[in-house]
Amino acid sequence: MNDATILIVDDNPNNLRVLEGILHSAGYKVRPALNGESALRAATVAPPDLVLLDIRMPGMDGYEVCRRFREEAATRDLPVIFISALQETEDKVEAFRAGGLDYIVKPFQADEVLARVRTHMELAQARRLLARSNERLEQLVAVRTEALRESNASLERSMREEQALRQLLALSHAEPDLKAYLEGALQRVTEIFGWQSPERKSAIFLTRNRGHSDRLDLAAGVGLGPEQAVVCAHIGFDECLCGEVAACRTPRNLDASHCPADLHFPDPAPRGRIALPLMADGRALGVLMHTIRGEAAIPAADERFLAQVADVLTMSIARRYADDRLAYLAFHDELTGLPNRAALGERLADELLRARHHRTQCGALFVDLDHFKQINDVLGHEAGDAYLRAIARRLAAAVPSGDVPSRWGSDEFVVLALDLGDDAEQAAHEAQARAELIAAALAQSVPVDGQDVQLNASIGIALYPDDGGEAGELLQHAELAMFRAKQAGRNLIHFYRPEMQSEATRRLTLGKELRQAIDGRQFCLHYQPQVDADGRLLGAEALIRWHHPVRGLVPPGDFIPLAEELGLIVELGDWVLADGTAWLAGHCAPAGRCTPIELLAVNVSARQFHSEGFVNRCLQVVAAAGIAPERIELEVTESLLLVDIDTARRKIGQLRDAGFAIALDDFGTGYSSLSYLKSLPVQKLKIDRSFVQDVHRDERNAAIVRTVISLADNLGMTTIAEGVERPEEVEFLRNAGCQQFQGFHFGRPLPAGEFAKCWLPAS
Ligand code: C2E
Ligand code: MG
Ligand code: MG
Repeated sequence: MNDATILIVDDNPNNLRVLEGILHSAGYKVRPALNGESALRAATVAPPDLVLLDIRMPGMDGYEVCRRFREEAATRDLPVIFISALQETEDKVEAFRAGGLDYIVKPFQADEVLARVRTHMELAQARRLLARSNERLEQLVAVRTEALRESNASLERSMREEQALRQLLALSHAEPDLKAYLEGALQRVTEIFGWQSPERKSAIFLTRNRGHSDRLDLAAGVGLGPEQAVVCAHIGFDECLCGEVAACRTPRNLDASHCPADLHFPDPAPRGRIALPLMADGRALGVLMHTIRGEAAIPAADERFLAQVADVLTMSIARRYADDRLAYLAFHDELTGLPNRAALGERLADELLRARHHRTQCGALFVDLDHFKQINDVLGHEAGDAYLRAIARRLAAAVPSGDVPSRWGSDEFVVLALDLGDDAEQAAHEAQARAELIAAALAQSVPVDGQDVQLNASIGIALYPDDGGEAGELLQHAELAMFRAKQAGRNLIHFYRPEMQSEATRRLTLGKELRQAIDGRQFCLHYQPQVDADGRLLGAEALIRWHHPVRGLVPPGDFIPLAEELGLIVELGDWVLADGTAWLAGHCAPAGRCTPIELLAVNVSARQFHSEGFVNRCLQVVAAAGIAPERIELEVTESLLLVDIDTARRKIGQLRDAGFAIALDDFGTGYSSLSYLKSLPVQKLKIDRSFVQDVHRDERNAAIVRTVISLADNLGMTTIAEGVERPEEVEFLRNAGCQQFQGFHFGRPLPAGEFAKCWLPAS
């Protein structure tokens, strides 16, 4: 207790000195005071640890001093021991009442003074310790109480947040309209957080793809003024805070001083703002924006919650988009955006009811692109898709606004032609006119992959009510009519006729039989001689025949087009090439006959020619038969040049390089473009039978034949006339300079055996 300070108050300097001496000797620091006033001052300025206080003093007595101590905060707890000569009990009682702790009677004993001082010092120390530990305890309780309060508040907040998020989810399921949902969601969030005050403004934007650029459209707002709603109706990506956040796909929480200058939420008061992108699959579906009044940014807890709100909103929006997409895809074609087959079926059924009710006519126009497959084959599927998209746009633009264009599948489209009038003849006229407009629109070339692609379309038309009363029937008949247009040479418009149905059934049966015929090897080759101007045999053309088990010998004209359509021609054509080559290699000259036949002409269809590996297969066939490729002449038609002339030219070049001879069959009936003729390595032109017929007396045919012969001459090509039936025709052709001939006049196509008998004389 060495540092302890004791204030001694006594008006008697002697008493002061004696007490001072006693206390000093015990190691206490002592401060003396000769009267009450100076004692009060001294104790207030620097409170001592204990006070020894005389009672009787001039002026303020000890009782009064003690009472004053008790009144002041700084001295209230000072331990005071009275020292007095007064011995009466009342004096002592009065001393304790005034706030003294003890009482020492004068004259005092040093030991007693020290014992009492020490005791009270220790008591005071113990009291102080107690007070301090109480204080610490109280502080601890206060801290704990605060922590509890905080954790209660945060628990309550998380419960409210969870409740809000659950409500948003429930609302998402209950509210089918997206905009209404977003409005509701924003309202709910702001209500739960007391954000509905005008101090807060919130908004949700949705991303809209506008061709090449995205933009944000205001979808829901809370607290926005009418002017703000207008300014924020559309925001470009990269524009304003929300646009930037959508473009860079990261949230931003800014205090008022950091807000961008071009804000779309002009406000006289400063605002803290947060904008969060609504991210799904790496793409911003929209932006959630929230502002508060004041300089500060949005508090961290609110930011965390808003991020969760943004997640729920994103989920709900993405789910709706997926649902909408499914609903859209159920009735739209994904590639072209046109109504799909299902949508068309429903619409047609409705329109037929309407037409029945109003007694008007309507029709289905079945549109199929000619040779579309070759775009896919040659330019690739992506180019094919791009072409179809362009064609779909053309088609939609070409039909009258009330009509319904749709995509039926691959390169097929169906247009519902509505309101065709009430008279059948007038309806047919009108449908024809609309089909012609479509055909003209589709025939315009389309730039794809830097190339201009031009295809025509075949169109079949079926009219209600004459061609079918039900949707399915009408569509089936329109498709049949389209098939007929294809068969008749493509790029045509055909109306449905009842006999097409039986024809279609016949073709269906034929197709089935054809497949069986290939498996059952029901085919054979006939050979027709090709001769020079003097009638000498130069070669033969292999012509396929089908030995039908019921119908007998079927001519190729009856099944080759179908085989092409069904893709069977590749297998069939390869068989012809192999069988003909083998015949040429050996069987054309059975024992006892010489082998004067040099050349075999084999027909190659466009589809076979374009099939993968055709050149290699030709090479393998001649190699297997052991004959020179020069002895095989491949007869191709102009149709194979229709789509991809470059590939055709390249393949013909490869075949020529390998040694094969190439002849252009049926020349003059197809495309007959002089520019390709010039660049194709073809040695022979076969003048089509239609020009040869009556050439000696048909001026026009004569002119054409002369021109073709001189053209071939000038290009260094040989000419052969097909279908020569009369001596007069031979005469004319010979005079015109034609070098080779084929036709009934010289010899009909014959089976191998008969051909050998007639044309390959015994040695
Ligand atoms: P094409 O290649 O122009 O064959 C000539 C056709 O004219 C043959 O008919 C032949 O019999 C006929 N013909 C020849 N001389 C005369 C004549 O003086 N008068 C008349 N009226 N006709 C004559 P065919 O055998 O019925 O063949 C028809 C078409 O079928 C062929 O025309 C050819 O395009 C196709 N074809 C025949 N065999 C095959 C084949 O193996 N593969 C392919 N892809 N097509 C073939
Ligand atoms: Mg031919
Ligand atoms: Mg021909």
